[in-house]
Amino acid sequence: MGASQEADRLEGETVELLQTLIRNACVNDGSEGSGEEHRNAAVLTALLEGSGVDLERYEPAPGRVSLVASVDPPRPDGPVLVYLAHTDVVPVSPEGWRRDPFGGELVDGEVWGRGAVDMLNLTATMAVALRHLLARGRPPCGLVYVAVADEEAGGHLGAKWLVEHLPLLRRVHGVVSEFGGMPLRTPSGATKLPVVVAEKGVNWTRLVVHGRPGHGSQPFGADNALAKAALVVQRLLASEPEVRVLPVWEAYVAGLGLPPELTEALLDPAGVDRVLPELPQALAAQAHAATRATFTPTVAHGGTKTNVIPDRVELEVDIRILPGEDPAEVPARLAAALGDLAPSVEIDQRHRDPGSESPTDTPLWHALARSAQQIVPGSELLPFLVAGGTDSRFFRALGVPAYGFGLFSERLPLGDFQAMFHGNDERVDVESLRRSAELFAALPGHFADLAG
Ligand SMILES: [Zn+2]
Repeated sequence: MGASQEADRLEGETVELLQTLIRNACVNDGSEGSGEEHRNAAVLTALLEGSGVDLERYEPAPGRVSLVASVDPPRPDGPVLVYLAHTDVVPVSPEGWRRDPFGGELVDGEVWGRGAVDMLNLTATMAVALRHLLARGRPPCGLVYVAVADEEAGGHLGAKWLVEHLPLLRRVHGVVSEFGGMPLRTPSGATKLPVVVAEKGVNWTRLVVHGRPGHGSQPFGADNALAKAALVVQRLLASEPEVRVLPVWEAYVAGLGLPPELTEALLDPAGVDRVLPELPQALAAQAHAATRATFTPTVAHGGTKTNVIPDRVELEVDIRILPGEDPAEVPARLAAALGDLAPSVEIDQRHRDPGSESPTDTPLWHALARSAQQIVPGSELLPFLVAGGTDSRFFRALGVPAYGFGLFSERLPLGDFQAMFHGNDERVDVESLRRSAELFAALPGHFADLAG
């Protein structure tokens, strides 16, 4: 079978698998009973059964099944590569969608549905690539395909649990997971492919704003927790965390081939904010998030009745800190932002993750570069810091290089990709699925050559 027929087969199988994974609607709303990833785990088990991999399922809580498919390296102590995929998706607001978010429809060469980019696309392409590799015999390196539950709620019932409980996952040499590989065209026409090498640390925090209850009909002099919470929100949004230019941001910006004045401004801690308003929204939001911690109020709960002055309001704040910043300093940074309101606010820091980062001069990095060049001739990798969290951090914490990478077509530029992540009308084009499947089929050969 020729290379393009092989790619056609990969593409066809991937589309079908992706549609099935989307239709299973393994929606993780953060509660322990949600997700029900056992359904997607069953689909993947059926796909891989009998192909020569060792298949194990793990279920830390009812229904929260993760699948681990592994094949040993051809020689003992040979390099082992992990394909890290998640099978859960975030909830949708159906009224914002033009198509059924769980229909998995194929329309004009695009597969629609929740998870089409985050990240069932790669979950599907990795599985199909693995099966094709196995059909040709033993893959050139050790391979572990991990399809985890619970990525969207922090991985406690998925990747985090597996890394803690499975010695196999602590003896690996490289990990590829989600986000990255959306082609960027530089002004000179070069194709750059961002690879996620670093991510910010999740420090979700609950703020409890206290006041005193009273009658809503006599507000004069009242201590209204809701009124204070509104001020708290304003102060968080107005706070200006220190701007820092990390080497990964520097390398990314330098590789974009932007006009020199713009490059200089984006790399100057005192200059970034000046150019943000002139940038396209996607790059502006990215530049902002990549150069500082962010404090974003996202949820408010408070009050009991229209005629009762509330004595308690809870605010959830999505806090992300840069790699190198200390989670232990988050409460003090919040208190400083709150100023004289701080004594009325209880700070409950529910996540304390530092950011994480992998070096780029590794066998896996070079193997990704070779694989990408084989499929997109002339392309170059670009290190990238992502503001959101992924399961890669559990491996980076062990010192295992972990990168976020797929391979997407020009139809899926970075800005669109980011907008669809947890957004409306999520969809992926078939050419992107084909390229990613080819990438994951080619990578083990290059990895074995470079890491062996
Ligand atoms: Zn994801």
